[in-house]
Amino acid sequence: MTPYDGPSAQDRPPLIDGFGRTVTYLRVSVTDRCDLRCVYCMAEHMSFLPKAEVLTLEELDRIASAFVGLGVRKLRITGGEPLVRKGVMGLFGALSRHLATGALDELTLTTNGTRLAEFAAPLAELGVRRVNVSLDTLKPELFRTLTRGGDLAKVLTGIGAAQAAGLKVKLNAVALKDDNAAELPELIRWAHARGCEVTLIETMPLGEIEADRTDQYLSLGALRRELESFWTLTDIPLSTGGPARYVEVAETGGRLGFITPLSHNFCEACNRVRLTCTGTLHTCLGQEDAADLRAVLRAGGSDQDLIEAIRLAVDGKPKGHDFRIERAARPAVARHMSTTGG
Ligand code: SAM
Ligand code: SF4
Repeated sequence: MTPYDGPSAQDRPPLIDGFGRTVTYLRVSVTDRCDLRCVYCMAEHMSFLPKAEVLTLEELDRIASAFVGLGVRKLRITGGEPLVRKGVMGLFGALSRHLATGALDELTLTTNGTRLAEFAAPLAELGVRRVNVSLDTLKPELFRTLTRGGDLAKVLTGIGAAQAAGLKVKLNAVALKDDNAAELPELIRWAHARGCEVTLIETMPLGEIEADRTDQYLSLGALRRELESFWTLTDIPLSTGGPARYVEVAETGGRLGFITPLSHNFCEACNRVRLTCTGTLHTCLGQEDAADLRAVLRAGGSDQDLIEAIRLAVDGKPKGHDFRIERAARPAVARHMSTTGG
C-alpha cells in the first residue's frame, strides 16, 4: 500500500465540525491489548480483538496521514498499551516524516510506562519530545492491586529512561476515592520534584468493569479545595483545546492539571477526535457516534473516499458528552477507554 502523502493542508480547507470547532488533534489507538488491567479501565478477563479486525500499521499510517493532510497538527499514539503493539516503532518512524516536513507540530504517546526503558531512546530519536505516563500511586502494593499485577519498579525505571533520553514526562493519575486520594499530594510533590507535570483525571463511565464507579469516583473540585488548604494554586490561562484546566503550585513550583468531565463540561473548545485500532473514528469520547474508516480502506477506497468519510464524520461531531456517575447506572458508552484510546 502506498503511504498517503497529500494533499497538503494548504490545498484543503481545515476540518471544521458542525459547531464551528476546528479539529487539529487526532488520538490513534494502535491496539486494544495491554500488559496491565487497571481496575477503572478494564474488566479482569477481557476478550481482545482478533488480529484481522485490527488495522495494520500501514492502514494506521494511511488514516493518520490523511488527517495530517487535512490540517491535524498533533498526533497522540495510545491504546490499550501502545508499546505492546508489535512493530509500533515502525509506525512512529513512518509518521515522523510529517514532523520533518513541518506538517505536524507534535507526535507523542500515552503509555503505562512498563516498556519505556526499552523504547524511550528510540522514540526520542524519531522526534517524540513528550510522553504522558499513567501512574496512580507510588506504593508498590497498591500499584499491583490497581493494575491487577503490575510492577511499579518497571514504570519508575521507564520514567527515568524517558527523562534520560530527553523526553518531557507528564504523569496522568486517575483520582480514586478510597485508593489513592490521600496519596495524591505526595504523588504531585514527587513528580514536581522531578520536573514532571501532573494531570489528575476523574474516572469516566466508559465500558463495564467489575467495580461500581460510584465507589471509585472522586470529585476533583473537592480535591482541589483540599489541596488549597495547604498549597497556593494559581490558575494559568493555558488551553490545549482539551478538558484539562491548569494551575501552578507555588510550594512545589510545578504545574497541575485537572480533567473534570463529570463536574464540568469542557466540550465547547474541543479540538480532537479519536481513531480506534479497528479504524472506527469517534468524534466524541462520551458518545456512541462512530464512522467506519476501515471499511473505506478495505473496500479499496481512494484517498478522496477516505477524506470524504473523515469530513462527514467530523461534520457530525456531537456538541458534547453527558457523563453521569450514578449507582447501578449503565456506562455512558459501552466501549472501554482501552478501546477508544485515552
Ligand atoms: N495504556 C496507556 C496508559 O495507561 O497510559 C494508554 C491508554 S489508557 C486507556 C489512557 C488513559 O486513560 C490512562 O491515563 C488511564 O488512566 C485513563 N483511563 C482509562 N480508563 C479510564 C476511565 N474509565 N476514566 C478515566 N480515565 C481512564
Ligand atoms: Fe492498560 Fe492503560 Fe487501561 Fe491501564 S489504563 S489497563 S495501562 S490501557
